[in-house]
Amino acid sequence: MTTTLITGANKSLGFETARRLVADGHDVWVAARDEGRGRAAAEKLGARFVRLDVTDEASIAAAAQAVAAETGLDVLINNAGIVGQLGQEIQDVTAQDLQHVYDTNVLGPVRVIQAFIPLLRRSVAPVIVNVSSGMGSFARTTEPGRSESRIISLPYCSSKTALNMITSQYARAYPDIRINAVDPGYTATDFNRHSGTQTVQEGTDAIVAMAKIGPDGPTGSFTDRHGTVPW
Ligand code: NAP
Repeated sequence: MTTTLITGANKSLGFETARRLVADGHDVWVAARDEGRGRAAAEKLGARFVRLDVTDEASIAAAAQAVAAETGLDVLINNAGIVGQLGQEIQDVTAQDLQHVYDTNVLGPVRVIQAFIPLLRRSVAPVIVNVSSGMGSFARTTEPGRSESRIISLPYCSSKTALNMITSQYARAYPDIRINAVDPGYTATDFNRHSGTQTVQEGTDAIVAMAKIGPDGPTGSFTDRHGTVPW
């Protein structure tokens, strides 16, 4: 049985990914920073719960220990992410605003990957999925007519661009692990006050597809539910 851990799985895209992978037969760890909400989500899904705050090294180390003690790990999905202050004008953005968003969106996946790599390397088919965004794509954010080119969000967009390169670097460093970035697409969740145009089912298509690739699947790629996303 494939064992999968999803960060930020107590709601929205993370929760729907967990639901779909449980339905596909994965043994799923719902990782969440809030014990009550995380446990409730895991119980609803028939999944396991582990507390994990991606900004807190101690909680990540404890989570890795708990997972190692009970199951091992085949698939790690770095889904937890924050948008920062919606609608903030660029002249008001401070270095602290970037630091805050990077702590979760950039340093979070690095901390979690570092902690879980030893476990993943014991799997016969290890996979990492980093949930990025088209908002982190140079190509998409500079293509007139695309929705990504109409929004300026310095902390969030640059954090996802960093996550893309982090994905590429890990993929090149660990050829035995399938490591890919995905763009869910604009999806109605708390993240955007439910203004997204896709359902969570649509928003999780690329995440679920990449979670299920085998050892011969791609690595170092960036895709959405329609195919390749240009960097
Ligand atoms: P969401 O509704 O805001 O949910 C985010 C999840 O991340 C929540 O479970 C949240 O936990 C968790 N989280 C935030 N900070 C965390 C931390 N420090 N440690 C652990 N968990 C933390 O967002 P979403 O729409 O599901 O987005 C999920 C991912 O998709 C994000 O990486 C986002 O950038 C990406 N994405 C979303 C869209 C979209 O349109 N929705 C588009 C492109 C990419 P709490 O409940 O405790 O806050």
